[in-house]
Amino acid sequence: MKFTPYGRQDISKEDIEAVIAVLKSDYLTQGPAIDSFEKAVCLEAGAGHAIACCNGTAALHLACMAADVQPGDVAVTTAVTFVASANCAKYMGAEVLFADIDPENLTMSPLACRRLLEKAKAEQKPIKVVVTVDLAGHPCDMQAFSQLKQEFGFVWIQDACHSIGATWEDSRGIRWKIGEWPGPDMTVLSFHPVKHITTGEGGMILTHDDLLASKLRKLRTHGITRESDEFLNTGEAFAEDGAPNPWYYEMQQLGYNYRITDIQAALGESQLHRLAAGIVRRREIAAAYESRLGRHPHISFPKVTEGVGHAYHLAIALVDFNAVGKSRAAVMNYLKQAGIGTQVHYIPIPLMPYYSKSANLNEVPESLAYYRKALSLPCFPQLSDGDIARICSVLEVALS
Ligand SMILES: *Cc1c(COP(=O)(O)O)cnc(C)c1O
Repeated sequence: MKFTPYGRQDISKEDIEAVIAVLKSDYLTQGPAIDSFEKAVCLEAGAGHAIACCNGTAALHLACMAADVQPGDVAVTTAVTFVASANCAKYMGAEVLFADIDPENLTMSPLACRRLLEKAKAEQKPIKVVVTVDLAGHPCDMQAFSQLKQEFGFVWIQDACHSIGATWEDSRGIRWKIGEWPGPDMTVLSFHPVKHITTGEGGMILTHDDLLASKLRKLRTHGITRESDEFLNTGEAFAEDGAPNPWYYEMQQLGYNYRITDIQAALGESQLHRLAAGIVRRREIAAAYESRLGRHPHISFPKVTEGVGHAYHLAIALVDFNAVGKSRAAVMNYLKQAGIGTQVHYIPIPLMPYYSKSANLNEVPESLAYYRKALSLPCFPQLSDGDIARICSVLEVALS
């Protein structure tokens, strides 16, 4: 029996040819395919700069480094996200606080975030960085967080690992793509195989800020620059005629090797051509689940804010397992035996042993309530209408 996972990559003949072309070329890494991929994503997203790196987690870490997060600083992220959204600040020695979610669209509640910002300000430990997450592909309340940023002055990192290709509308009715609007300081993407486009492992930071972009480029490769206009040690850097010395490079900060390869970048650029079509199909899949399973008395779906073009990285159903009288484990196991993979996105981070000692569960009631009901159904472009009908039927039986 064919097994249907909750998400999977789609690799075309063109993708494979693009990778093979790089394998036959002069550069496997630090070559032209990376630049080309960055330019292509930048253009697609309407961003100012794109810095590709080895995975989304590294991209979040780079963003925190560029934000100059220091040991003892305080960061805020949402309780419902992948652990990487919090870990990036921990890598810098920061403390992480968790804001509750908006129960309607599941992204960080601006009100809950405001409470944390106000409390921290009153205690004279202002929040250094806020990491919002576009859970499942639904952009967070962009204007509300922009307002908070102006009021409280934090660095805003948008974890858009689920939302490349999503859109939202501002209060004037102008539609923005993820990465296009300069509200967030940095927007982070992941190219893991379950995400919209993949490079195997890969990530990227989008920004409109020239200074952040140049910092990120250096930090991605050991803190080294080869740009002669950035050299600090001019006595070493330049010959007597003023020309930069041909061997010269300069390490200015402690960075990492977080580079992506040209092999991966070529795969990513080839995949990018199918991003829009993939999102169209994901929207059809989500609509099919909602129209059929929405009739079930104990299944509901998160709401989509008006004006939002959801990217549906995930199709999350909210199942009232208590009312059904079945455990989620029993339902997931039943589905698995029928060849259908499901998952829970996510276990709220404050429940993780690493974070639970310092986290306050009383502050995240909506996240805990959501967690009890969450079930991510298969959602990826190659799912057929027949697959979807079967998944719905099997789930209905599992719940009966
Ligand atoms: C996938 C993901 C990441 C991390 O991406 P990797 O490329 O796997 O390191 C970070 N945040 C969220 C919300 C994600 O879904």
